[in-house]
Amino acid sequence: MRALLFSLVLIFGGVSQSTAVTRENCLPAQEVTRILSELNFDGANRWSTDEVCNPEKLTYKTIQALIFIKNLELSEGSNSQLYPNLLGKNPWKFFTSRINEIKFPKNCQAGVLAYVNLLEKNTAHICQQLVNSEVSSFAATLLHEARHADGFSHVMCTHGDLAGTIGGCDLKLEEAGSYGLEIEWGLKLAKSDKVGKIVRDQSRSSSVYLMLNRINEYPLEIQEGLALQALNGEITFFDGQNQSLITAAVSPESVLSDRLGTPVFFDARANTFLGYYFSTELLSAPGLFANYLTSSLAPSEKEALLDINYEKLLFLFKDKIIYMNDAGQFIEARHGINQPLLFSMIRSLPPLKAGVYVTAEDGSIYRLPDNLNDLAKKQPEFVSKPQNPLTKIIQGVHKSNYALSRDGSLTTLSDRWGYAPVPVDALHGQSFKNITPTLWSPLLEGL
Ligand SMILES: [Zn+2]
Repeated sequence: MRALLFSLVLIFGGVSQSTAVTRENCLPAQEVTRILSELNFDGANRWSTDEVCNPEKLTYKTIQALIFIKNLELSEGSNSQLYPNLLGKNPWKFFTSRINEIKFPKNCQAGVLAYVNLLEKNTAHICQQLVNSEVSSFAATLLHEARHADGFSHVMCTHGDLAGTIGGCDLKLEEAGSYGLEIEWGLKLAKSDKVGKIVRDQSRSSSVYLMLNRINEYPLEIQEGLALQALNGEITFFDGQNQSLITAAVSPESVLSDRLGTPVFFDARANTFLGYYFSTELLSAPGLFANYLTSSLAPSEKEALLDINYEKLLFLFKDKIIYMNDAGQFIEARHGINQPLLFSMIRSLPPLKAGVYVTAEDGSIYRLPDNLNDLAKKQPEFVSKPQNPLTKIIQGVHKSNYALSRDGSLTTLSDRWGYAPVPVDALHGQSFKNITPTLWSPLLEGL
């Protein structure tokens, strides 16, 4: 099964635009005939031309993705450490040797994009929600389902954006389950000269996302740690003991955040929102939330942006917060905090309650209401003003709680946070602008 939470669909999905049904939009007749001769489509005998000429139809998108798979020759790819190498050169052969029938069920569970029923394992069920996927990620989902035909299923996620979700993850990359296969597909596309740069970049970032969020046992020596943003713009990785350079390609003015396991950077002057996906070139961060930042905010708002919280989909400004509600709408609310600096996410650090906090220039800490719609009628709750002012708290990295002090130094915190920060000796003398949790391994740079 390939499922996405609602909010993730919003983050990843594009905005569907209404497209007129014209003859030019029809999929090539010869290609469609070939696909229909190799796979059985439930209900195809009742199809009108609309099914293959209207890009908003699920049938159209499915056949388009199948044509994409069929015509794509991949490079062989010998780096078996990075992926299982099941697709070989010919992903179509992989698909058709496992799937011979496509059905379009009317009643899919909420959030399910596609599934294979193990009693009927050569049939792929494609759900309406998949209609918004780009062709290469639609194809990725088809191949993911084909791997289920080999008997692979999923387990509960132990970390990542679906932590605790039953049937959301694979155990490890080496078992080469459905997500392992999708990672192989994405990494091969990322290196393919048969597709454009946009598809290559999206495939790379999506494979990295899957590797960090859909595989329980981190592959390739991936470790949890902190991304540290130095005043000169350099981003380093700190694992609790050692510091390694991640990238020096980030403008010092950029706002640092973390998106689903990787650091992202918003540069107001260049109007770019880039992510680090283990290559020397930073790539555009995908999704609606990222698009909003670069396309919908006024230039003066971009300049005034202080911090981004991807987990709760929040933007922090001097005088307001913009957040994305459950319906995917962006809402503005005044926060009334004097000179805010950065967000902190607190999960279980006594005496603080779980929630999203904002620190201010004078060290005051405020807690945002659990339901951000309440910001319209009530101000954030003032919590405390510690003697040693902190600007950001990061919890639970290598069982330590880290904080950025007002003077820019990194400290660890005991449970009685804020009263006795202990400087991190390994980083003595260094000052940072922001810190964020991240996942990294030097081996990933070879992706
Ligand atoms: Zn699956």
